[in-house]
Amino acid sequence: MRYSNYFIPTLKEVPAEAEIASHKLMLRAGMIRKVASGLYTYLPLGLRSIRKVEAIVRQEMNRAGSIELLMPIVQPAELWHESGRWDHYGKELLRFKDRHGRNFCLGPTHEEVITDLVRKHIRSYRDLPLNLYQIQTKFRDEIRPRFGLMRAREFIMKDAYSFSATEASLDDIYQAMYRAYCLIFERCGLDFRAVEADTGSIGGHASHEFMVISETGEDGIACCASCSYAANTELAEVKPMDGTGPFEPGTSELKKVETPGKKSVDEVTIFLGKKAMELVKTLIFIADERPVAALVRGDHEVNEVKLKRVLGAESLEMAGAETVEKLTGAPVGFAGPIGLPMEVRVVADHAVACMKDFVAGANEGDAHFVGLNWKRDIEPPEFHDIRVITAHDPCPRCGGTIEIKRGIEVGHIFKLGTKYTEAMGATFLDSNGKARPIIMGCYGIGIGRTAAAAIEQNHDERGIIFPAPIAPFEVIISVINVKDKKMMSLAEGIYVALSGSGIDVVLDDRDVRPGVKFKDSELIGVPVRVTVGKKALTEGIVEVTDRSTMETRLVGCEDVQCEIESILR
Ligand code: ATP
Ligand code: MG
Repeated sequence: MRYSNYFIPTLKEVPAEAEIASHKLMLRAGMIRKVASGLYTYLPLGLRSIRKVEAIVRQEMNRAGSIELLMPIVQPAELWHESGRWDHYGKELLRFKDRHGRNFCLGPTHEEVITDLVRKHIRSYRDLPLNLYQIQTKFRDEIRPRFGLMRAREFIMKDAYSFSATEASLDDIYQAMYRAYCLIFERCGLDFRAVEADTGSIGGHASHEFMVISETGEDGIACCASCSYAANTELAEVKPMDGTGPFEPGTSELKKVETPGKKSVDEVTIFLGKKAMELVKTLIFIADERPVAALVRGDHEVNEVKLKRVLGAESLEMAGAETVEKLTGAPVGFAGPIGLPMEVRVVADHAVACMKDFVAGANEGDAHFVGLNWKRDIEPPEFHDIRVITAHDPCPRCGGTIEIKRGIEVGHIFKLGTKYTEAMGATFLDSNGKARPIIMGCYGIGIGRTAAAAIEQNHDERGIIFPAPIAPFEVIISVINVKDKKMMSLAEGIYVALSGSGIDVVLDDRDVRPGVKFKDSELIGVPVRVTVGKKALTEGIVEVTDRSTMETRLVGCEDVQCEIESILR
C-alpha cells in the first residue's frame, strides 16, 4: 500500500465529541467517522484493524469447533412474538414495517432466528451438539451511545449459539468457548479478566463476562485480593454483616425535624451533623407496574439487578418525580419507611437491619425523622441483599479484601438453558424417543469494542500503540526525501521484499516533511517504522523504530526483515 494513494484522514485537533482516549485516537488516526449518534463509518484503517480482530475470532472459533453461518439483520416480528421478547425487549429494539405493513426489527441479537433454524432441522440427540456462529452487524437503539465504537448503536458482533442434548454437553462447549475467548483476547494484546456475571432470571454461575481492565470501563468488577473470586459488581454477593444483631434498639428519641430543601444524602447529613451511614436512603421503583421502596444505608447504592431478582420482576425502573409525590405525599428527597401506603412493597438491605437511631425521610416535604429504630418505631420490612458491593465488604467466597476495578466488557458467555427452545418448541428426541427441549448456550464478542479496548489499553501521548496482531499495518516505511529517485527505489525494494513475505506494510511516499510522516506513523500506531534516509544510500543502513518503546536501531538493509520480525513477534 502506498500512503499517497491511500485514505488516512488524520486530525491534528482532538475532536470535542470524544471523551476517552480510544475514541479520540480512533477519530484522530482516521479510523472511524461519525455519521450520526452511535453510527460510524469504518474508514480503511479502522476496517483493517476490525478485520484482523475478526480473523483472530474466526480462527479460534473454528478451532473450538464452532461453525460459521450468516443470518439476516432484518428479522420478522413473528419470531420475537414466539419468544415473548417483542413485548419485553424494550426500546433498544428498533421496530419497523415493510411495504405490506408487516412488523420487523433490526436484530440486536439472534436467539430467535437461530432457534427457528435449529428447530426445523434437529430431530434427535444424534444431531447434537451443534455450535454455530456468525460475525455480523447488530443494531441496538442504545439510550446513551458513547465512546465511539465502545457503545455504538450499530456494531459488529461475533455471536455463537450452542445446542446440546445434555447439561454435560453444554458444560463442555461452555468450557471450550471460555478457553477460545481467553486465546482471542490474549492474541488481541488485552489485559483482561473473566468475571462471574449476572444471568438475569436464569440464575446460577452460568455466565462469565470478559472484562478488559480500564479506568474508563462502564462496569464495576469486584476482585478478591486473596482468592480467585472476580465478579461483576452487578452480581457480587454481599454477606450480611456480623457484629451487632438486627433490630437492637438505640437510645435516642424519635423526632421529626425540619430539613428545608435538603434532599440528597449529603445535604441532609451535613445539615443534621450526621454521617451518611447513619441515614436510610429510600428509593421508589416501579417493578412490573407495582411500587416498591428500596431501603439502603446512605453510603450504599441500590443494586438494581439484585433488586429485580429479589422481586422476581420482569421490569424495574426508578419512579418518576410525579409518581414519587403521589405515593409518598412529598417531593423527591423526603421518602422514608414511616407512613408509606400499604400498596408499596418495602424491601431493605441487610445492612439496614443493624442500624439504630437512624435518619430517614418523613414522607413530608422538608422533613426527616431522626432517632428512628426498627421494632420500637416501625415494623421491620423484609431484608435482602439488594446493594452494590463496596471495597469495605469482605469477599463472599473467602472473606478476603475486595478491590473494586473498572472493566470494559468485550465478551460474554452464557448458559441459556431452555428459555428459547421451550418457548419456540425446539425439541429433540432423546435415546428413549422422548421429546425434550434443546439446551442452549450463547457466546458474544464485540468486535469493534475489542479493537477500541485494545487502543484504550495501548496508547501514549503520541497516539496508538497497536498490538501487532490487530494493527492495520505492521510496518511503515518512511522515505525522508521522495524526490530522491535512488532513495525511493531503495525504499521500494524493502517494501516489495516485506510485502512478499506476508508482512502488512505501507510505504509513506508522500511528499511531506519527515516530521509530519513521523507524527502520523506514531499517531496511527504502526508497530514498526523503517526510516529510509541518506544513510541508506551511503552506508546501506536504515533506522528501525519500535513504536512501543520508541527505540531506534540502525540496521543494515539486508537485516531489516529479521529485525522487524523480532519486534513483531
Ligand atoms: P452492555 O452491558 O455493554 O450493554 P450487553 O450485556 O448488552 O453489553 P451482550 O448482549 O452480551 O452485551 O453482547 C455481547 C457483546 O457485544 C458484549 O460483550 C459487547 O462486547 C458487545 N456489545 C454490546 N453492546 C454493544 C454496543 N452498544 N456497542 C458495541 N459493542 C457492544
Ligand atoms: Mg446492552
